[in-house]
Amino acid sequence: MKITHVETYPVRVPLKPVRQMRSSLGQHRVSEFLLVRIGTDQGIEGVGEATTTPNWSGETCWTAQAIIRHELAPLLLGQDPREVESLLARMNRVCVGNPFAKAALEMALWDIVGKESGKPVCELLNPQVVRRRFRCRFSLGAYPPQRAAQVALERVQAGFDTIKIKVGTGPEDLPRVQAVREAVGSEITLTVDANGGWELEQALKMLPRLQELGVQLIEQPTPRGEDFAMHALRQVAQVPIMADESCFTLTDAQRLLQWECCDVLSVYPGKNGGLIPALQIATLAAQHEVPCSVGSNLELDVATAAMAHLVAACPNLQVERFPGDVLGPEYHEFPVVHNPVHIQGPWVQVPQGPGLGVEVDWATVRANLISPP
Ligand SMILES: [Mg+2]
Repeated sequence: MKITHVETYPVRVPLKPVRQMRSSLGQHRVSEFLLVRIGTDQGIEGVGEATTTPNWSGETCWTAQAIIRHELAPLLLGQDPREVESLLARMNRVCVGNPFAKAALEMALWDIVGKESGKPVCELLNPQVVRRRFRCRFSLGAYPPQRAAQVALERVQAGFDTIKIKVGTGPEDLPRVQAVREAVGSEITLTVDANGGWELEQALKMLPRLQELGVQLIEQPTPRGEDFAMHALRQVAQVPIMADESCFTLTDAQRLLQWECCDVLSVYPGKNGGLIPALQIATLAAQHEVPCSVGSNLELDVATAAMAHLVAACPNLQVERFPGDVLGPEYHEFPVVHNPVHIQGPWVQVPQGPGLGVEVDWATVRANLISPP
């Protein structure tokens, strides 16, 4: 089998007004992502999604489109799509960074391999699939305290038992967590995600109060790259510290683990540049007895399916203990696939069809294509 073409589709999907995200990274109201489509001489097609947000990886749908068109797609043309690992290695040799663009192509390759063999991607990654469905936490934007409390309560009534609250946005951080705690009661697990929005001194000040409020996990409290700050906070924290923005690559993970900077690592295919590197990070973490969870960039259904297959395949993605948020489609106005990933309250079903198990609705994609600025 040979790859015959690689196409890219920059698409715009607004978030539902009630689900617009606010964090220390800014506002997320509209997703402008890149869908990719890889064709083969046997008529089997694979799809992928680059969940591009510049404040995460420095990528936009336009940079992803350019790097794919000019650098990565030429490497793939004429190659056997089943050689996923060596093709990803080639992509990494010609181009540093750009993890979401590479992940989009890698998930499309896995989609082809799965469709050809009649197996879901999770079974290709690990024939001993660990789970077929899993429970998520709800990720709550850094809204004013009253609104945060109201949304949290509504999500708890919808079945969520873990709420992640965005913090790192200013003086309302603690009032927000407190309002949510008062609204949902003491039985619900609360975690916070500062997206690197606190300096160490501030995080140290917040810590006792967060612990009093029963917060059970602190995600990326201090800026990415400042591993010493997470290490220092961890020395005094009585709750686990999770690295997210600090852990893009295997090298990042090695450093964080070696210097004991965190108790949990957040991994996911887009951020880590593919399913293979995400699995490598989770495996390395397991060797250090550090559990992993799955993070999110508010993906559409294609990248959400890839995340679900990762969770299904990887024993060290300990989502029962540290639930992730594989809920991107729930935040968006409409799906771009005919068969959305099945998400019911906190429960996500891993798609069971061959490949990623989602079929892109190209008419909807075409109707929502965007033109270069
Ligand atoms: Mg995070």
